[in-house]
Amino acid sequence: MKRVLANRSLVSRAPRFVVKVGSSSLTKSDGRLNHERLATLSDTLATAYGRGQRFALVSSGAVAAGVGSLGIGSRPTDMSGLQAAAMVGQTKLMSEYGERFGEHGIGIGQVLLTADDVMRRNHYRNARAALDKLLGMGIVPIVNENDAVATTELRLGDNDRLAAIIAHLIGADFLLLLTDVNGLYSGPPSEPGSRPIPFVGNIDELKNYSITGRGSAFGTGGMSTKVTAARMATAFGVPTIITSAGNLGPALEGEPVGTWFAATGSKSNARALWIAHAAQSSGQVRLDEGAVAALESGGNSLLAVGITDVVGTFDPGDAIDIIGPGGTLVARGLAGWDSESLRANAGVAGAGRPAVHVDDLVLVRR
Ligand code: GLU
Repeated sequence: MKRVLANRSLVSRAPRFVVKVGSSSLTKSDGRLNHERLATLSDTLATAYGRGQRFALVSSGAVAAGVGSLGIGSRPTDMSGLQAAAMVGQTKLMSEYGERFGEHGIGIGQVLLTADDVMRRNHYRNARAALDKLLGMGIVPIVNENDAVATTELRLGDNDRLAAIIAHLIGADFLLLLTDVNGLYSGPPSEPGSRPIPFVGNIDELKNYSITGRGSAFGTGGMSTKVTAARMATAFGVPTIITSAGNLGPALEGEPVGTWFAATGSKSNARALWIAHAAQSSGQVRLDEGAVAALESGGNSLLAVGITDVVGTFDPGDAIDIIGPGGTLVARGLAGWDSESLRANAGVAGAGRPAVHVDDLVLVRR
């Protein structure tokens, strides 16, 4: 079984980790790439490499690099413009990382993925083998969302979930999520009385803080996707640090900066965790009591006969919320049908394949 890093003073000796840096840490106020930040990041990581540590770097910044290369003055506002900038910028970003790490004699490899694709289509075994090979060769995998086919990060500023999945794939000893605040706070960092939270022993402790709404500890700075990423990573035994990009050096030395989320589990089923906590939901199905009982007794697929209502538009394979009669979230799963066909067959007995197959279904207790 995987050894879990129990103490953050051991971080500087951990053999493998994942570090994630977002656009906000790599972009200047004019929307262009901040070359100095990228250089500092690479140099600091090279120090860890030099003492024998190996890591994958999940990096955004492609759009920012594209804005500079295209000479378009500012960040595009339309989705295809952002995608185009990312496609131009990604090559620039990689060549810049290549140069920076190259100065330290370290090779890099580009990995473009989407969290949803890797998990939904069981591609994670292929990704795991490829990443493992790269790391074994001493190459630093540099990972970004594949912006040509996915727009999750462009819409939500979210490579955090992808970083958690990579941490699982490479068997990381810890996950380091860099952001523009020092760590997690009990309220908006600017508000008097908000205090930093240095240690989270179990993510459910955070239920005491307001999770929804603007101005909560999670409402700004993309903290909510970071907490989701930490929830996933800690559940599969990977402790997680959230801190500012400026704290990278001290964090890698094992100093107590930012927030440390202790590992709480050793779950190996990353796909189930992704379905339960991280997959973007495309719709809902509502169930009658009998169907809820059948699901909760375990081992059963969800059948169309137990569905009373279908909300939203989805395709087979999309993630959906499964709601009980009282409106509570009972489970999440990947749809076996498109929403239109399911709507036509809701409540119908013997309607062929399951609405959600048991292998694609995770009971959620919140
Ligand atoms: N993956 C994109 C990038 O690397 C999106 C980040 C963003 O929205 O700026 O630039």
